[in-house]
Amino acid sequence: LEYLAETQKASLAHIDRLVPYSTEARLSIDPATRRSLELVATIRDGRREGSLLGVIDRTVTSLGARMLAEWLAAPLVDVAAINARLNAVGELVADATLTGAIRESLGEIYDIQRLLARVTTGRASPRDLSFVGRTLACLPKVKAKLTGRSSSLLQEIEQRLDLCGDVRGPLELALVDECPLVARDGGFIRTGYRRDLDELRELSAGGKQWMAEYQAAECARTGISNIKVGFNSVFGYYLEVTHAHRDKIPADYIRKQTIKAAERYITPQLKEYEEKVVSAEERAKELECELFAELRELVAEAAARLQATADALAEIDALASLAELARSRNYVRPEVVAEPVLDIEAGRHPVLDVTEPEGTFVPNGIQCVARGLGTGDWGLDGDANSAPSPQPPAPGSVLLITGPNMAGKSTYIRQAALLTLMAQLGSFVPAKRAVVGVADRIFARVGASDELARGQSTFMVEMTETARILNTATPRSLVILDEIGRGTSTYDGLSLAWSIVEHIHEHIGCRTLFATHYHELTDLEDQLVGVRNYNVAVKEWQDQVVFLHQIVPGAADKSYGIHVAQLAGVPRTVNERAREVLAWLEAQHQTNVDAAELPATGGRAARSAAAIGANGHLQMTLFGVEEHPLLEEIRAANLNELTPLEALRLLHSWQVRLQEEQAGVRS
Ligand code: ADP
Ligand code: MG
Repeated sequence: LEYLAETQKASLAHIDRLVPYSTEARLSIDPATRRSLELVATIRDGRREGSLLGVIDRTVTSLGARMLAEWLAAPLVDVAAINARLNAVGELVADATLTGAIRESLGEIYDIQRLLARVTTGRASPRDLSFVGRTLACLPKVKAKLTGRSSSLLQEIEQRLDLCGDVRGPLELALVDECPLVARDGGFIRTGYRRDLDELRELSAGGKQWMAEYQAAECARTGISNIKVGFNSVFGYYLEVTHAHRDKIPADYIRKQTIKAAERYITPQLKEYEEKVVSAEERAKELECELFAELRELVAEAAARLQATADALAEIDALASLAELARSRNYVRPEVVAEPVLDIEAGRHPVLDVTEPEGTFVPNGIQCVARGLGTGDWGLDGDANSAPSPQPPAPGSVLLITGPNMAGKSTYIRQAALLTLMAQLGSFVPAKRAVVGVADRIFARVGASDELARGQSTFMVEMTETARILNTATPRSLVILDEIGRGTSTYDGLSLAWSIVEHIHEHIGCRTLFATHYHELTDLEDQLVGVRNYNVAVKEWQDQVVFLHQIVPGAADKSYGIHVAQLAGVPRTVNERAREVLAWLEAQHQTNVDAAELPATGGRAARSAAAIGANGHLQMTLFGVEEHPLLEEIRAANLNELTPLEALRLLHSWQVRLQEEQAGVRS
């Protein structure tokens, strides 16, 4: 608070409580993930339009829009809390008339949170107060529509909606319909609200009447037909007489000013009355200012209750927005469970579902289950080493998606993350059926080359973010990796991608979708029990490649790059030559690397490095590290029989050998 007081230089009276922010109760989404998934802005041009929020936000108030953005920034992780929201959304989806009516009533309310902040910091105008009043006037309608709902969240919101009649009454009685933006000049308190104010106003209005009568009387008394009463800020009210009548000026006129065609006079009578009028007017304004301060105080004192009401309004707007979205886009209620599974039938990417022409987006299913890593207590572990079961193969924990460029890999893996996220914020999802296991974290990382547009294509950034994922993901997380390793040379990148998949599979075991252009990675399916290959189907039609955008089991055809080149119009001769080169490279690869063996990590069977690339020699230097002979000696040393001195000698001899070896390498 001290920091805010220092930096904001404003009253902090509107901050009525401090609530600890617990990341435990929320799904944590780091900034890189937020960007990769385009949650609130697109990667390409940073606009809200085309982002997830841009698509799902159907709120009708700024309160609701902020609430929904908050929900999206930090979705829930508690199954019961998620279901509470889903129940409320479900009830609103089921009753479209009710939801429509609620949204219509909400459309009339003002941004009461912002108004309250202005009130409590003393910056409110009469108009702000009248907006508070008008908002309060809408509450009974909204509350009535929430009465008798069956979902507990809607009931609770109805309870929290405090009508604040004690605030609304005075505001409605006191303020005129069209209030000014400043209090100083008055004119915003209704006639009849305060008798003393009415009297002052009558006096000042009556004063003007007197002035007119006085003007007529003076004309009659002096015989000057055109005396005019005027006013200026220097000497107040005056009588103006044209030079033609100069000789008829009575003795009690005191000359004040000469202008081109006339002279201006004051009289004691005029001054006396002027004082009354001016002071009545001024006193009326002062009184209005006082009344304004009273009303502002009234609102400020009720700030906590109004804030709670604003929260309730925001929440109902956000829920109704989700319901409207679910109804209009034909979403389904996800079954949210604690087990780390993802089982989606005919899922759609929520943004492309809206932005692609109607009916052209191809839905895809997703089946993915965390491996459980030793605990195995999720009952869904698809460990191929366990006793064979007659059931169909269990879903994998790591889905490797290959396929041509533009086939829909990135779309598919993001879809998995977005549907999970939507379910956890309490939204229905674009799918035919969805079982979503709550994720404790969602990580998404786009390969560096896909981010060229941002001018941020440093491999370092890619790896820093990958490091964070590998270091912080838990078995309950959901990890989306898109073209990881692309930002560096092929062997480098491939090796990293390979070991990253292994690490996730062996040490994290979380649900992972990995889109890659490294075809070699698909060999991992045979070696790691939880890895499943998928690819995006393409159809060859009249020598062309047609993207079906359909995710199917299995690895993609290796030569898809050449197909795509063909589709893009690369000359036929180039394509034909490319096919020849490919065939030759593949032949090379077959003969050279058969013997190469990639040493196993973590005690698994050694796996063939034939998968790795086109050059066997390179494979050896990359992966075929032979065991150092010293290791065997260390293993063989019998520590029980060694004296400390012998042990020291042994250690010394090893050290000398290693140093000599190293010197040899250098020379
Ligand atoms: P990749 O990552 O495989 O290069 P993207 O996921 O970026 O491909 O998709 C490329 C384009 O294909 C998208 O912009 C979209 O227009 C289209 N697309 C992707 N998935 C689908 C789908 N399931 N249905 C229809 N169009 C899709
Ligand atoms: Mg892509």
